[in-house]
Amino acid sequence: MLNAIYRRVGKHLAPQGERSRLSVLIYHRVLKEEDPLFPNEVTADSFDKQLAELGKVFNILPLEEAIMRLKCNDLPTCPACITFDDGYADNVSIALPILKKYNFHATFFIATSYLDGGRMFNDTIIHAIRMANKTYADLTQFGLQKYKIETFEDKTHAINSILKYVKYLSVFERENIANKITEKLTDIEPPKDLMMSSEQVKELTRFGMGVGGHTAHHPILAKLNSNEVRQEIEEGREYLESVLGEKIKLFAYPNGKPGVDYLPEQSDILRKMNFLAAFSTQWGVAHRNSDIFQVPRFTPYTKKLAHFTPMLIRNLTHKQ
Ligand SMILES: [Zn+2]
Repeated sequence: MLNAIYRRVGKHLAPQGERSRLSVLIYHRVLKEEDPLFPNEVTADSFDKQLAELGKVFNILPLEEAIMRLKCNDLPTCPACITFDDGYADNVSIALPILKKYNFHATFFIATSYLDGGRMFNDTIIHAIRMANKTYADLTQFGLQKYKIETFEDKTHAINSILKYVKYLSVFERENIANKITEKLTDIEPPKDLMMSSEQVKELTRFGMGVGGHTAHHPILAKLNSNEVRQEIEEGREYLESVLGEKIKLFAYPNGKPGVDYLPEQSDILRKMNFLAAFSTQWGVAHRNSDIFQVPRFTPYTKKLAHFTPMLIRNLTHKQ
C-alpha cells in the first residue's frame, strides 16, 4: 500500500525520459554486526533490508549505463544507482553477496594506496580510541584537546571531534598524527585487513560490478594545486587499470563536498583526463541539465527502515 504511493510519487518526481532524476546512493562500510561506537552504521542485516525497500520503488541501474542514459534523456522511471566509497574489504565479504541476492549492480570507488594491508588515517584513530583503556585521552600535545573516553558515547564523540580536525591536514600530517595518537593510547596493533586486496577488486568486476577512481591517498583535493590533483587521480586510475585490465571512467571526489573538499573548477581536470563522469557527496539528484562532472549523491542515514524510502523520495525534490 505505502509502496504503491511511493511508486506513484516517485513516478511523478522522476518520470521516464527527459524529466527523469537520477538518485545515486553512497555507502562506505557494511558491518557484519552493529558496532557500539557507530550504532548508525549500516550492517549486513540493515543493508539487506534497505536493498529490499529500494527495489520496490526504484529501478537500479549500473552507474555508467545511468550516466549514458541521462545524457540521451533515456532514463527509466525512478532510476537509482548504488555506490561505495574508499574500498573497504567488507564491501566484498559482506555487501557483495547481498547485492548478488537482489541482482543489483553497484560501483566501488577505491582509494588505491590503502589496498593490500593499508589503512586510512581515520581507521587508525578509531582503533586508538576504541582500544584506549583510560578515562581521558589527553591529545593537547598534537594541537587537539583532552577527551573523555570512558563510555562508548564518549569515544564516539571524541573520534568525531578528532577526525573533524585531522581530516583537513595534509596526507603526511594526517598519517603522522594518527600513528602518534595510537602510540600514546594503546599497545595493540591496528588492523591490517580493513581495506580490500587487489584480488578482491578483481573479484568485484568478475561479478559484473563497477569500479571507479577515488585518488591514491584520499587527500582533500581543495588543498592541492592542479598538478598534485592530477597526479593523485592518475596514480589511482593507473593502478586500477593495471589490476583490472580495463578503462576506469568514473571518479568520486574524496569526502566530496563541493567548495570544501574539492573545488568545482577541479572538475575540469577530470574532464580533460577523459573521465566519463564524477560524483560529489552533495545531496540531490542529477537531471538533464546537471554537470555530469559533479553528480550529487545521497545516503539515507537512518536506523529506521520506515524512513528509508521517504528520505529518498524527499531527496528527489532537492533543488539544484
Ligand atoms: Zn572516500
